[in-house]
Amino acid sequence: MYEKSKALYEKAKDLMPGGVNSPVRAFNSVGMDPVFIDHGKDARTYDVDGNEYIDYVLSFGPLILGHSDRTVVDALTAAAQKGTSFGAPTALENELAELVIDRVPSVEMLRMVSSGTEATLAALRLARGFTGKNKILKFEGCYHGHSDSLLIKAGSGVATLGLPDSPGVPEGTAANTITVPYNDEESLSEAFDKFGDDIAAVIMEPVAGNMGVVPPKEGFLKFVREITEQNDALLIFDEVMTGFRVDYNSAQGHYGITPDLTCLGKVIGGGLPVGAYGGRRDIMERIAPVGDIYQAGTLSGNPLAMTAGLETLKQLTPESYEHFNKLGDMLEVGLKEIFSEKGYPITVNRAGSMIGFFLTEGPVVDFDSANTSDLELFKNLYQELLKEGVYLPPSQFEGMFLSTKHTEEDIRKTLDAFRNALDRAAD
Ligand code: PLP
Repeated sequence: MYEKSKALYEKAKDLMPGGVNSPVRAFNSVGMDPVFIDHGKDARTYDVDGNEYIDYVLSFGPLILGHSDRTVVDALTAAAQKGTSFGAPTALENELAELVIDRVPSVEMLRMVSSGTEATLAALRLARGFTGKNKILKFEGCYHGHSDSLLIKAGSGVATLGLPDSPGVPEGTAANTITVPYNDEESLSEAFDKFGDDIAAVIMEPVAGNMGVVPPKEGFLKFVREITEQNDALLIFDEVMTGFRVDYNSAQGHYGITPDLTCLGKVIGGGLPVGAYGGRRDIMERIAPVGDIYQAGTLSGNPLAMTAGLETLKQLTPESYEHFNKLGDMLEVGLKEIFSEKGYPITVNRAGSMIGFFLTEGPVVDFDSANTSDLELFKNLYQELLKEGVYLPPSQFEGMFLSTKHTEEDIRKTLDAFRNALDRAAD
């Protein structure tokens, strides 16, 4: 059932490392070859062998309206007729910037870039330049793109300086990144006691989405906000994944905590390459050309990308999030029923249109508890679900995403698929 995908993958492996342009797409952690997608429509994708899937990957988050939304595609077609890039300002950039500023509480000014990695990288340079300090604190299990300072794992204990997570990241760079467990106020306090004078910023996913979905514990975001303020460190919310996914006003609106800077990406590009960073005006005005901190991009604010983002955000309403919560509830209740009937543990974590399940009793509150999930069972379940026409992110440590085009019928079909797949996966 995957013959054409297999042939394409064999060829791709000779052309690109691992046959892919981003590692998780290679399906390594689910023990199979990737399927090659031919096209998508609404909540469905279709692979090159003609198999149909209910898609919970949605390009790892951006496609909150589902695939090839008619309005987005029409607007993109019209924009392309006018030219694809000018290297000069366009009115579209103002329009998207105004919309983001209007919806995301912390953002008074912003700069568009072309990926989430670029957004976090630039936000860190800005935080260091603005505060005159060197160190960055991040949480274990949070992913902020692949720039050197952020590709860091924790040292041997809590609140130690980081070690490179990949060859090629200089030790000196890693030594400026402190890593502590997510949702752990004590370790965070300890890190500030030890390094507080030199911490330029804390960067965090306000809902972690890169160790599976892990929401902040009650009061955790408030604690981080307070401790950063007390230590003259900036708080950066990396909302590349959570922005416009967790709620109409993003995670910061939902939890009522306002960071100094916010990084965005994914949904604000509507499926085209976009990132952005923004926040307090006095900080953003340090960016060139008005300020002295440099950052630039040939394709930043690209008219096609701006168009896709704009037409996507315009269609999101508070009702969209009611829809996500309703479908999320159905999925959570259904999954718990199926797993309990069959005698397997499951923990379901949710935030708006982000849903994560872990094959463990839970609770899952950080990277260590996420790692208690049964990865072997996940792998088998994944393969069986694919045969049943359900396409999940190919890793236990990626969340599932909903779009406005997913329906209650899709959720019912997905639950039926889980029921069938779990029997076979557990054999
Ligand atoms: N930050 C978060 C929270 C992400 O989830 C990601 C990507 O998954 C990034 C940053 C990096 O974004 P990009 O892959 O567009 O560079």
